[in-house]
Amino acid sequence: MIDAAVVGSGPNGLSAAIELARKGHSVTVYEANDTIGGGCRSAELTLPGFVHDVCSAFHPLGAASPFFRELDLSREGLEWIEPPAALAHPLDDGTAVLLERSIDATAANLGPDARAYRRLVAPLVPEWNDLAADALGPLIRFPRHPFVMARLGLPGALPARLLARVAFSGVRARALFAGLAAHSVLPLDAPFTASFGLVFAVVTHVANWPLPRGGSQRIADALAARLRSLGGRIETGRRVGSLAELGTARAYLCDVTPRQLDAIAGARLSDGYRAKLRSFRYGPGVFKLDYAMDGPIPWRASDCLRAGTVHLGGTLDEIAESEAQIARGTPAERPFILVGQQSLFDASRAPAGKHTMWAYCHIPNGSTFDMTERMEAQIERFAPGFRERVLARSVMGPAEIHRHNENNIGGDIGGGANTLFQFMTRPFFKLDPYATSARDVYLCSSSTPPGGGVHGMCGYHGAQSALRRAFA
Ligand SMILES: Cc1cc2nc3c(=O)[nH]c(=O)nc-3n(C[C@H](O)[C@H](O)[C@H](O)COP(=O)(O)OP(=O)(O)OC[C@H]3O[C@@H](n4cnc5c(N)ncnc54)[C@H](O)[C@@H]3O)c2cc1C
Repeated sequence: MIDAAVVGSGPNGLSAAIELARKGHSVTVYEANDTIGGGCRSAELTLPGFVHDVCSAFHPLGAASPFFRELDLSREGLEWIEPPAALAHPLDDGTAVLLERSIDATAANLGPDARAYRRLVAPLVPEWNDLAADALGPLIRFPRHPFVMARLGLPGALPARLLARVAFSGVRARALFAGLAAHSVLPLDAPFTASFGLVFAVVTHVANWPLPRGGSQRIADALAARLRSLGGRIETGRRVGSLAELGTARAYLCDVTPRQLDAIAGARLSDGYRAKLRSFRYGPGVFKLDYAMDGPIPWRASDCLRAGTVHLGGTLDEIAESEAQIARGTPAERPFILVGQQSLFDASRAPAGKHTMWAYCHIPNGSTFDMTERMEAQIERFAPGFRERVLARSVMGPAEIHRHNENNIGGDIGGGANTLFQFMTRPFFKLDPYATSARDVYLCSSSTPPGGGVHGMCGYHGAQSALRRAFA
């Protein structure tokens, strides 16, 4: 008998396991894939010597996560690289807006909106620790820092397009904010999308958008090394079809989404709880391209070469239209694309003089539409001649993304849609959303607060819930 069995070795599963092991409990993690890490893995997807991030690439939330900060994974060799700029957002006039760690440098980019940006974002930056304590957990509870939360929550409750139009007058700040808010994977006229824009802006000035030297796999490897040093075990190639297969444990923590929890723990759960799991809503999928390149991306705006991440999509209205089309169930004509150029800042990612490129856009859940042509046209718009530098390409639509990690239902990489209710708390309204109807079963994936991203906070909170109930 072990104290805790964890299903899934994504960043949240590993974080939950570490937190339980730190409290002296014996833990085994069961992972379906042959490699650990879930959405935090790297592999040679194109040519030998080119290391691609299969899923996550940039980690503002990882670097700013209170749990990861406390763990200090540098002891396990995790090294964050900070590109000179977190993000570049090129425009058709041949310039790029840069989001930098320095608030002043960022504001200086925004022309008439420099003061407005400072007014909106700067007061929240020194409050990050208090904000994280409230915002990186269930939102349906009385906040520990109500005034700080109100400063974020009042503007954050607005639709991103509305806040961008009210707060900013220029194209540059509006476009930058739209790109940040589009991480919500929602139409930018939906309530609370502004909070995504604000949180990503604030986190940039706290922790930048760093990438791990050697690839995102290094985050999972560092978490696994910490777990093993605490006595925890990990079994890979071990898909769990039912919790009954795992023998007796005091608690089962599941780094899976509600549909999977229903399948593997169903017999232990009440009918009412299962019915609610089945009404959980999944969000749009993603379509991803990875390239081995003969040289850096030939951006028209050379400032883009200073940034790890590049947002392609043009103006606020263009990005809003792209995300609105997806919400209507149509692949975007001119998709909003997130581009990563890790090898510019980490020589270990590609042979000397060569480069990697990581890019994805949103697409309706489960869509079989091939976005390659539309994405490449959008890349060419801002980097003419890009196609000539391509040595090899890997293409992953929603089906491949799902096959790669069964948590990515229909290509949804966020553990579920950020609908109004699922944004406030997930998988559904419950004071302790990590606890299930069974005292020994817990959900600890990104289908619980605070949702998607590599930050480990869902796993940390899931473990706290188990410690309160199953190990009390
Ligand atoms: C293309 C892409 C780009 C992304 N970009 C970023 C980014 O730049 N920054 C960022 O912060 N986040 C990014 N993300 C999101 C991030 O990867 C996820 O939010 C995060 O990994 C969720 O962590 P998790 O532990 O909840 O689940 P996952 O990482 O999905 O891990 C779940 C694990 O459980 C395993 N599993 C599932 N079912 C079973 C079973 N029955 N038995 C055993 N094992 C099982 C899976 O194999 C998987 O390993 C990206 C994701 C993708 C796919």
